[in-house]
Amino acid sequence: MSAERRQPVIVIGLGRFGSAVACTLERMGHEVLGVDTDPDTVRAHKDVLTQAVEADSTDTDTLRSLGAAEFETGVVAIGSAIEASLLTVLALVDLGLPNIWAKANTERHGRILERTGAHHVVFPEQKMGERVAHLVNERLLDFISFGDEFAIARLKAPEPIVGLPLITSQCRKKHDVTVVGVKRAGEDFIHAVPDTIIFPGDELVVSGRIEKIERFSAI
Ligand code: ADP
Repeated sequence: MSAERRQPVIVIGLGRFGSAVACTLERMGHEVLGVDTDPDTVRAHKDVLTQAVEADSTDTDTLRSLGAAEFETGVVAIGSAIEASLLTVLALVDLGLPNIWAKANTERHGRILERTGAHHVVFPEQKMGERVAHLVNERLLDFISFGDEFAIARLKAPEPIVGLPLITSQCRKKHDVTVVGVKRAGEDFIHAVPDTIIFPGDELVVSGRIEKIERFSAI
C-alpha cells in the first residue's frame, strides 16, 4: 500500500459538523490539524486527528503561529458563533489560503461568508433538511441535489417500466430523466444500457431535474 498522505487540511471548530469533517478526512488519509477553543473538545480529538490544538481562531497571529498559512485547504466549521466564523474566514483569507470552505447556518450568514472571501460555502443543516423531506415525502431511497434544480436519486423502479427494456420504456423521452444504473437484490450495481430490462424490486439510480425525478417516482 502507498504510504503517500493526502493534502493536509486545517479544520477550525470541532463541533458535530467540524468533527465529522475532520475525522472523515483523517480516515481518508489526510493530515488534519483541528482547532477549537474548548479544551474538552480538543482533548476528545487528540488521538483521532494528526494534531488537535486549543486556540482562538479569530486571531490571525495565533493561526499563523499554528502554521495555518502552510495549508492550502481550510474548513471553518463554526456555525452558531457568527462573528467568530467570519473573523476566522477573514484570518484565513489574510493568510492566503487558496481553498477555504465555510459552514453557514443561515442564507444571510452564507452571503456574508462569501463576501468575506470563503471560496465554498456549505449549508449542511438546510441541505440535510431538504434531503430528509424528499426521502420522507417521496418514494426516493436516497437523494443528492446539485444546485436548486438537479439531482441524482435512488428509487424503487416504478411499476409501469417493470418488465421492459429501457429502450422501450423511454424514460428520457417520456419522463425527462436518465436511468444511470440498476441495482438488483443480491447482485452488483450495473450501468444502465438500452437493453437493460427492469425487474420487479429493482432499484434505479436516476438523474434529472428534481421535479421530474419526483414525478417519475410516482408514475
Ligand atoms: P455544530 O452545530 O456543528 O456543533 P457549532 O457552531 O455549535 O457547530 O460548534 C462550533 C465549534 O467551534 C464548537 O466546538 C466551538 O467550541 C468552536 N469555536 C467557536 N468559536 C471558536 C473560535 N473562536 N476558535 C476556535 N473554535 C471555536
